[in-house]
Amino acid sequence: MKQVIMIKYGELTTKKDNIGLFLNTLKKNIDYVLKGFNVQIEYDKGRMFIISNDDNYDQINGKLKNVFGIHEFILAYKLEDNDLDIIGQNILSLIKDKEVNTFKVVTKRSDKKYPISSMEVSRYIGGIILKNINSAKVDVHNPNLTVNIEIRSNATFLYFNSILGLGGYPVGVAGKGLLMLSGGIDSPVAGYMSIKRGVKLEAIYFESPPHTSIEAKNKVQQLAKRLSLFNNGIKLHIINFTKIQEEIYKKIPHEYLITIMRRMMYRISAKIASNSNAKILVNGESIGQVASQTLNSMSVINEVVKLPVIRPLACFDKLEIIKIAKEIKTYDISILPYEDCCTIFVPKHPVINPQLSKCIEYEKLLDYESLIIEAIKNHEIIKINNEEVLHQDIL
Ligand code: ATP
Ligand code: MG
Repeated sequence: MKQVIMIKYGELTTKKDNIGLFLNTLKKNIDYVLKGFNVQIEYDKGRMFIISNDDNYDQINGKLKNVFGIHEFILAYKLEDNDLDIIGQNILSLIKDKEVNTFKVVTKRSDKKYPISSMEVSRYIGGIILKNINSAKVDVHNPNLTVNIEIRSNATFLYFNSILGLGGYPVGVAGKGLLMLSGGIDSPVAGYMSIKRGVKLEAIYFESPPHTSIEAKNKVQQLAKRLSLFNNGIKLHIINFTKIQEEIYKKIPHEYLITIMRRMMYRISAKIASNSNAKILVNGESIGQVASQTLNSMSVINEVVKLPVIRPLACFDKLEIIKIAKEIKTYDISILPYEDCCTIFVPKHPVINPQLSKCIEYEKLLDYESLIIEAIKNHEIIKINNEEVLHQDIL
């Protein structure tokens, strides 16, 4: 018997028309996280198998935990035989050191030509276990050991436990999106949730030095690095927003500062998205969270762009968002104290129900088009291709 990792894709199998794309992308993504490991990856109907030439399955599992599109992964024993007595003997040798009180056998036959039904296989193997292990008793509802047998045309796989994967779709199958990434708690979570649906992200961050510090920028890079784990690296666009923000601060009535500032952010993001072939913007807005996230504000701000703006957190409470941020380990980075541009220019009384006509009128006071062109022309790109991130076991 040889050890292998057996991967189940879950949701993928419901997308019959796209299955080729899904599998190729998943394989590419697994290759990416296992770069440097001496492994082969094989497919067989509905399953993927990873065979390692070294004894390092724990490390490999650690990497697979971060790959979207994997529903379950299993350390299995591969037996190049499907004779029932041989299967039984091998199971006995695998469980001889385990404490077997109650057990059940679960069989799956992907080889439909196999002459015996799954139920009969389970019963037969259960009989062998009962005959050979005195303490063993069958309990189909709450066993302390489940013996899984998967009979496939080329081999039989035996296993006891499986590890839940992240689920979702392999990153990249849905196309590309641009995440508006701030140093806050929300946007990294929004990014994670869109990667889960197969969206390959680039990220954009607006900084306003010297009003914002280098630490704030480093913090956003740390967050981007964390996301890059799930996204196979990430490209981070950094926009110097200082001039635009100072102009707004000088010329616009202060209750409209945030509304106009966010309209500028959206405009720039849409241009960067279009240059990068990203089809959507993603951000961390949540209905009602702050003045700029009332339905009225959102609609007035959204009005400046044509591409869809996806807000994965639109209907989440802050506590629900924090829970995910902790799970994906962005929370501790997000709560570092360095402020980014929004927080510095926040007026005392931001408008809750901004009017589009006023935005248009106020924006005439700014020469924003040339400022936007300049900001985009001079923007910095940081590519995190995460070799070094991958080899730290951070999740
Ligand atoms: P918090 O987690 O504290 O709410 P936040 O980053 O979500 O922080 P908001 O003012 O609620 O702050 O901003 C709403 C969304 O706008 C963010 O989730 C993010 O997607 C985007 N955004 C805000 N500021 C920036 C910025 N400086 N650069 C890029 N995107 C930003
Ligand atoms: Mg927020």
